Amino acid sequence: MPGFELFGDKERKEVQDVLDSGVLMRYGFDGMRNGHWKTKQLEAALAERMQSRHVHVVSSGTAALTVALASAGVGAGDEVIMPTFTFVASFESILALGAVPILADIDETLTLSPPAVEKAIGPKTKAVMPVHMCGSMADLDTLKIICDRHGLLLLEDACQAIGGSYKGKPLGSIGDLGCFSFDYVKTITCGEGGAVITNNETYYQNAHAYSDHGHDHIGNDRGAEQHPFLGYNFRISEMNAAVGLAQLSRLDEFLSLQKRNYTILRDALSNIPEIVFRSVPEGGEENYSFLSFFLPSEELAQKAHKALGENGVDACFYWYNNNWHYYKKWEHLTNLKSLGKLPKEVRDALPDYAKANFSESDHWMGRTISCLIKLGWTEEEVGERAKRMVEAIKMTIGR
Ligand SMILES: *Cc1c(COP(=O)(O)O)cnc(C)c1O
Repeated sequence: MPGFELFGDKERKEVQDVLDSGVLMRYGFDGMRNGHWKTKQLEAALAERMQSRHVHVVSSGTAALTVALASAGVGAGDEVIMPTFTFVASFESILALGAVPILADIDETLTLSPPAVEKAIGPKTKAVMPVHMCGSMADLDTLKIICDRHGLLLLEDACQAIGGSYKGKPLGSIGDLGCFSFDYVKTITCGEGGAVITNNETYYQNAHAYSDHGHDHIGNDRGAEQHPFLGYNFRISEMNAAVGLAQLSRLDEFLSLQKRNYTILRDALSNIPEIVFRSVPEGGEENYSFLSFFLPSEELAQKAHKALGENGVDACFYWYNNNWHYYKKWEHLTNLKSLGKLPKEVRDALPDYAKANFSESDHWMGRTISCLIKLGWTEEEVGERAKRMVEAIKMTIGR
């Protein structure tokens, strides 16, 4: 997945343009910037690639999620449904607005289970936030039907799945809003960065103002601009956007490398009948950033994960006991360990996750191994890796 592996001349050239003018800010300084508007160019290029009317680029993926929720009016006490398997950024962005994260089970897609979402809906639910983990997507048609029926917002977290698609549409462009991360380890990187995409004019207008202290961005005198509502600072710098602009132009090249490497590994593992691959909803195409599969039991998955490492296969993850990506280790959330006091709405309404039953999630996560797909591997290296993976797994299951 990591675009940083192929950082090169294109990235250096875009950054050099910014260094030459010294204008590191995305807004203003028209006369000094030699015509370079890297953030604006990145937004235009993303809008085209993602077939979305509006794009607003911000400082991180977490910022993008926060801005997306805020721009659609999510606030204190509103409930947002999110999966048990995701990065901590999901609940961080919800909590940042005083809203309440409501966890719901995942299924064999490793993303939000639609029946679990239906069960989690209550009078305070405002949004459903599927997370397209490890390169593949949730069942978006079904989630959309549920959201429409209940009048809820559908926000896609496509931070790990940029370039994937569902029924011909880019992931992120299907919900009311979609978010991407361009942090250092994502498929394309800005160093740090993120983006909100939407076809909704109001959400877009809210997003750009909210992420820049409420600036309405009308006219060309920042000091004289109006502030129609309270905002914050989630701006990206031109340096970071410049890197992203180069990386976005290489997205399709990165995706085809990922697909090639993924396919070699998958074909090799397909010969082991005990291995079942994560399920991809009909009409979906992954971005091939990870190869994820199930072992027959939790015990075998743990053993296989260990055997892979011992056999020289790095970058495989057993998410079930990972500190950052699975609810079981989120005791800072469960116990509300915050530096200062959290809003009353959160303290009063957060479910007791220590007592929650997410056995469906456990059933799938306990058996899942995900292997990162790197861009820099040669075909020969992937072939060797495939051989080592098959050896390690066959040894584990005694074949
Ligand atoms: C990386 C990531 C984020 C957060 O992105 P940052 O840019 O690191 O803030 C959010 N959600 C998911 C699923 C991610 O993988």
